[in-house]
Formats: sequence, structure tokens, C-alpha cells
Amino acid sequence: MNQQDLFKKIIAHSKEYGYVFQSSEIYDGLSAVYDYGQYGVELKNNIKEYWWKSMVLLNENIVGLDSSVFMHPKVWEASGHVGAFNDPLIDNKDSKKRYRADVLIEDYIQKIEAKINKEIKKAAKRFGEQFDEQEFVVTNKRVVDYKEKIKAVQERFVKALNDNDLVEIKQIIVDCEINDPVSGTKNWTDVRQFNLMFETQVGSVSEDSNTIYLRPETAQGIFVNYLNIQKSGRMKLPFGIAQIGKAFRNEIVARQFIFRMREFEQMEMEFFVRPGDEQKWFEFWKEKRKKWHLALGIDDKKYRFHEHEKLAFYANAAVDIEYEFPFGFKEVEGIHSRTDYDLTQHQNFSGKKLQYFDNELNKSYVPYVIETSIGVDRMFLLILSHSYCEEKIKKENGETDQRVVLRIPPFLAPVKLAVLPLVKKDGLPDMAHNIINDLKFDFNCQYDEKDSIGRRYRRQDAIGTPFCITIDHQSIEDNTVTIRYRDTMEQDRVEISKLNQIISEKISLRKVFKEF
Ligand code: ATP
Repeated sequence: MNQQDLFKKIIAHSKEYGYVFQSSEIYDGLSAVYDYGQYGVELKNNIKEYWWKSMVLLNENIVGLDSSVFMHPKVWEASGHVGAFNDPLIDNKDSKKRYRADVLIEDYIQKIEAKINKEIKKAAKRFGEQFDEQEFVVTNKRVVDYKEKIKAVQERFVKALNDNDLVEIKQIIVDCEINDPVSGTKNWTDVRQFNLMFETQVGSVSEDSNTIYLRPETAQGIFVNYLNIQKSGRMKLPFGIAQIGKAFRNEIVARQFIFRMREFEQMEMEFFVRPGDEQKWFEFWKEKRKKWHLALGIDDKKYRFHEHEKLAFYANAAVDIEYEFPFGFKEVEGIHSRTDYDLTQHQNFSGKKLQYFDNELNKSYVPYVIETSIGVDRMFLLILSHSYCEEKIKKENGETDQRVVLRIPPFLAPVKLAVLPLVKKDGLPDMAHNIINDLKFDFNCQYDEKDSIGRRYRRQDAIGTPFCITIDHQSIEDNTVTIRYRDTMEQDRVEISKLNQIISEKISLRKVFKEF
């Protein structure tokens, strides 16, 4: 199946099975805003729990925070968002579509990278076992030319971004002969800057300075509370503050389903360290976060680290964790070494000292900060992209059938188990209800008695339920049931009294955490 079709299927499946709906759908929807349905909200909560516990529970020196969406407008002046939280936008005059100029250029570079990969694959097939990829990429003329082309564009692009040179950014688009994917033409407007913050008014409209912003990131709530937490919690460096919450950005181009939304959720952790120690902690968090992702059991080839060529002027190291979505490798998480920029800015703008007194060094200073920042919604899309699977299976009568299964890591699955009486009589439904009444305190359970058992299994596969418990006549006699595993479709006969233990082990967060 091609990747575009796969992506369409994931979106359709999300809607059909209660994961994600378009916001205000009965009014034809609101662009780039989505609602999470009955299973979506469970998956989202489980992702948040996995992140939160990995931060706050597993690290003695990390604590949580829940700061408000609205903040004093000066916060956003100090952070640089009022002046510089812009995206360069460009319109195509024929299609009337609006694009982010930097994304058009990045997509162009990705297309050349795809060509390189194609050459490598072709050569690997031709040369078989003797193929030496490292040598091939530095000697093959076509690949070398492609690489030089990428390097040249990247250098121009980084310089243009650093110089804030919008004319040059447009010129790159013209020189690279980038077409509008919709109209196919190169009829572009000039590039303009567009601020991504949503504004709103507080209090009486007649007052002058009542404009405030919806926060475009959760991090600033952490920075302005850093001293409150340090003092009230008597925290010693290094320590971290973790927060999960909504953020809002008036994205120019809101495409790709929940990948880029105007209202979304972030999980951010700011880790405060001694100046000079930041490189060590940057590497530490890079490793930790990688392990967090890989503990989900996802093939590590689907991930890559993208080091930033263009660093924000205040950052001294930055890396993106990218995942190969059906539309290519894209950022899910950013890890940034932000120096003392944010705290110093708030110190200057507020006039309040934000220094930390270091007992060991016997001096005060503004700490440096390492940030890890991941979007809940992008992580959700990552899990769906990884999980969605169409399989041919053999039915008991020998015919082939197809099933759609969501192979969601069991500890994240919205519904953990379904209890299915084989027939609607002979006391089987009562027994099923009794089992649920016992297990529901620990797991999200579902009861289903409608349709044939095969169809019920298909339904649970499509939701991603890792375990189906089937009650049959033997169950009444000997208190055993079958447990069917979603991924292998194998079935075991087990005692009812063992169910809790079996399922607990298979969805144990403790086990996942012990791996890292
Ligand atoms: P992008 O380059 O894709 O716009 P960004 O570099 O601006 O992302 P950050 O400001 O570093 O993103 O935000 C941290 C994380 O928040 C991102 O890695 C992403 O997972 C998430 N995120 C950012 N913008 C959005 C959005 N519009 N919709 C959903 N998630 C988002």
C-alpha cells in the first residue's frame, strides 16, 4: 500500500472507531482543530501517563507543575514571542494556497534525499553482499551531485533565516524551481512574516492594555515559576520541572491531520543545571528520551535524530527526534540547550532576581536549562501510524479473511480487555459480567455479546484491544476461560482467578520502565 493511501486509511479508521473527530463537524468542521473520541481520549491519557511517570515518578529531582494558559503579556515580550515568533509565509497566486516558505524548501531537500536513498537501494540490489554503502555514497557521481545540491541549498537557507532575509528565501524557492503541489505553477507572492500567537482580550474592553495571548508553548509557565518551586520545594541543582498542557498556534498551513494543529498539547520538561554542565546534561537527556521512545517496541529505523543546522540565537545545542510518518520523517520532539536565555530575559523584564544560590560554589547565578518538548498529539499520531496494520488471515473454515488491527503497545491501549460470552444464554453473560465487575477496578474493560465471535474479535482488533476473554460452556463447569492475544491471535485456556495477574504483567509500566 502506498504511504498516502495508508495515511488516508489511518485518518478514516480514527474516525470510524472513535479515536479522532473533526471539531464541530456538523458545521463542516474548523480547520486544524480536532476532538478526541472515546478511545482517543484513553490513548491520549495513557501517553501522558507514560511521559509523566517517566519524568516525575522515576526522577527524584523532577517535579510537576500546572500553570495557566493565560499569562501576563510581558512574559511573551521577554520570551521573544511577540517580536520573533514568526513563520515566513508565501502564497501561490494560482491556487491561492498559503505555504510556509521554510517547509517548501525542507520538502524540496527531502525529495533529493529520497532520490539518494533510491540510488543506494538500487546499488545494494545490484552489488549484493559486496555492497559497501559508505564507499558508494562518496564515490557515485549522481549521489555526490545530489549531496552537493542539498548542501548548497541548506547553506543558503540557513544564512537567509539567520539574516531574516525574506527576499533571499523567495529567491531560493525560485532558483530551486519549487512548484505549488496544488496548482503545479511557480507563480509565488513575496515572502512575509506572520506571528503565530492568538490574541484575546481580558476584562472590560474599554481598558487600553487588555490584550493577552493564548500561550504558544507551556515552557514559559515553568520559567516564571522556577524560583517558586525551587524555594518551596527546597530543590537543589540539577532539578527539573515537568508540565503537560494545551498550547495554541495560529499555524499558517495546517495539514496532515493532527500533526499540525492550532490547538494542541505539549509535554515539556525544563531541567535546570549549573552553567558549564549543560553539554553533559544535553547528552544525558538525548539518550533518556531516545530510550523512552524505543521502549514502546517501535523499530529504531523509524526514528532519527536531526541535529539543528540553524540554532536559535540563545541555544547552544538542539536536536529533533524525528519519526517516519506516512508523509516522511518529521519532528515529534525537540531537545534544546537553552542556556540562561529565558530566565535572564524574565529577570530583566520583571526586575526580579531569578538567581540560584549554589551552596557548594558559594555563589549565586542564573541556571542554564535543558528542555525536552514533545507534542502529545504528534505522539498519538506516531502510535497510530506504527500500530495500523492490515493483515490477511485464515478463517477456521480455511477461507482467507482480512483484518485491520491496531498493534498499540498494550500498556497504552485504550481498552485493555474485552469479555465475550460465546452465546447470550446459559448463564454465560452473567459470568462475563462477574468477571468485568472484578477486573474493572484495574483495567479498562469492555463487554460485547453481539454478532459472531469472529466478528467480535475483528471489532476488538480494530480498536486495538490486546486481550479478548471468551466465556464458553466449559467456563461454567471449571471456572476457566480462553484468553486470545491480539497480535498473535493465539489462545490459551486459563483459570479466571489468574486473569488479573496475567494481564497486569503484560501491561505493566513497571516492566517497561525497568528496561530503561
Ligand atoms: P514545527 O517545526 O513542526 O512547527 P516546532 O519546532 O515549532 O515544530 P516546538 O516549538 O519545538 O515545535 O514545539 C515542541 C513540540 O510541540 C514539537 O516537537 C511538536 O511535537 C509539538 N508541536 C509544535 N507545534 C505543533 C502543532 N501545531 N500541532 C501539534 N503539535 C505541535
